[in-house]
Amino acid sequence: MREVREELPRNGARICLVPTMGALHQGHLSLVDMAKRTSDLVVMSIYVNPTQFGRGEDFGKYPRTLESDARLASERGVDFIFAPADTEMYPEEHLAFVEVEKVSSILEGEFRPTHFKGVTTVVAKLFNIVEPHVAVFGQKDAQQAFIIKKMVRDLNFDVEIIVAPIVREKDGLAMSSRNVYLSPEEREKAAVLYSSLKYAESSLASGKKNLRDIRAEMTEMIAGGSGGKIDYVSFVNPASFEKVEDAGSLDEVLALLAVRFGQTRLIDNMMLKVK
Ligand code: AMP
Repeated sequence: MREVREELPRNGARICLVPTMGALHQGHLSLVDMAKRTSDLVVMSIYVNPTQFGRGEDFGKYPRTLESDARLASERGVDFIFAPADTEMYPEEHLAFVEVEKVSSILEGEFRPTHFKGVTTVVAKLFNIVEPHVAVFGQKDAQQAFIIKKMVRDLNFDVEIIVAPIVREKDGLAMSSRNVYLSPEEREKAAVLYSSLKYAESSLASGKKNLRDIRAEMTEMIAGGSGGKIDYVSFVNPASFEKVEDAGSLDEVLALLAVRFGQTRLIDNMMLKVK
């Protein structure tokens, strides 16, 4: 990658990195479209990063489909794929990590305590290896996008971060490489995540402000109707990622949730306008 990067023009051409863990779907490919709109050359990394998986999580069974990923990526206009092996990324005992405090320990961080440390570390490594001008992340992982932006600001990475909208299936389920784990029955029930977010959206649009009440209704929709096991349903101020219980004077709140269907843990979120 470094040899390739050395030969890429340093002046003029904008180079964009799209970091992924592969098992590509239309959500990932929409990031490529965004990358192509903003940049001249697109590098996609495909790497299932072990340090962002906790013990007992799905690192071992995470889908790895490099051949078809490479085809999809190049058909969509990716110029280079960087798909390193673990022995390249972590060749010896790894002792240096990048951590964004506070926001990494709430929501996803509460249920996956070492997750964001692994994410920020690998993204920092990818930025140093690829030296992109721009990087595109998905709003699907809203907390991750917020944390990456904070890392870039606080550590002066010279990379512009673009966040692309969530791509969904017809019934509203956010596309995810993990959706393949769902049984047909779970897959059908998982649509409730989107409907619960739409419910919150219309509640706030109609003037409700009490987020505790809205959360209780969402919880009932998810746990009552679908049997999904809720890790969290939360609302944050999108500017600070601080939890809010009342929409009060905010113009927008970000609703986030994580729910397990059987062994499969899904996350989703939606930006909600406050009337
Ligand atoms: P992953 O391969 O799951 O690590 O995701 C790689 C990138 O794709 C991340 O920036 C994700 O937020 C983004 N992404 C994943 N799913 C979607 C989706 N449904 N819509 C938009 N972006 C997505």
